[in-house]
Amino acid sequence: MTSNSLHAIEGQRDRAEAAVAAATDAVIAAGRAAAGRHWVPATSGNFSVRIDGGRAAMTRSGVDKGALSAADILIQPLDAPLLPGSSAEAPLHVALYRADPAIGAIFHVHSPAATVLSRLALEDESAEDAVRLEGWELQKALKGVRTHEAVVEVPVFANDQDTVRLAALVDARFAAPREAGLHIAPGYLLAGHGLYAFGADAAEAWRHLEALETLLEQERSYRRSRR
Ligand SMILES: [Zn+2]
Repeated sequence: MTSNSLHAIEGQRDRAEAAVAAATDAVIAAGRAAAGRHWVPATSGNFSVRIDGGRAAMTRSGVDKGALSAADILIQPLDAPLLPGSSAEAPLHVALYRADPAIGAIFHVHSPAATVLSRLALEDESAEDAVRLEGWELQKALKGVRTHEAVVEVPVFANDQDTVRLAALVDARFAAPREAGLHIAPGYLLAGHGLYAFGADAAEAWRHLEALETLLEQERSYRRSRR
């Protein structure tokens, strides 16, 4: 082997290690930020960032998301069985990465407005398994939404401890044809459980997470005061 090709291999390995380190750092930062908002009480929530086409950095089960270190992050291959110590909700991350190569980060929190409004939405017989948002300026923080007049649909799924079955339902819902003029949110709700948000990278996923939780809080207090 020539020294040139050795240098090329070393360069590739350095870039791969840097990608793992960057994804790990982004997961840790998201966990801390969510803990600062009280969105991940009692070790709940999970966070992942794509490393490349075949791997994602992901929080392991049962760790305090406000005190993450690199040892709490698993490097999960997307086409292999889940690693020991994976979160019960890891299938929901892996399925989304596999379904959509444009997704670069997925953040999941048990934030108050998402948890409560999702439950109310499923209990309300007039609702169609979704929370519809309309008339809020902050909707424009969601990718592709340009006006407060747009209608944004946040899908709601019944909570299910079988997260493989749940992941299949989520995939089917995001792959289904959309009603004209309706924006589907870059995220979804599990009733009485919490919020998943995703984006092209960690910054976008965080913006979507923060916007959706805030929009849901605005919607919740608006509905309450209209009663
Ligand atoms: Zn959860």
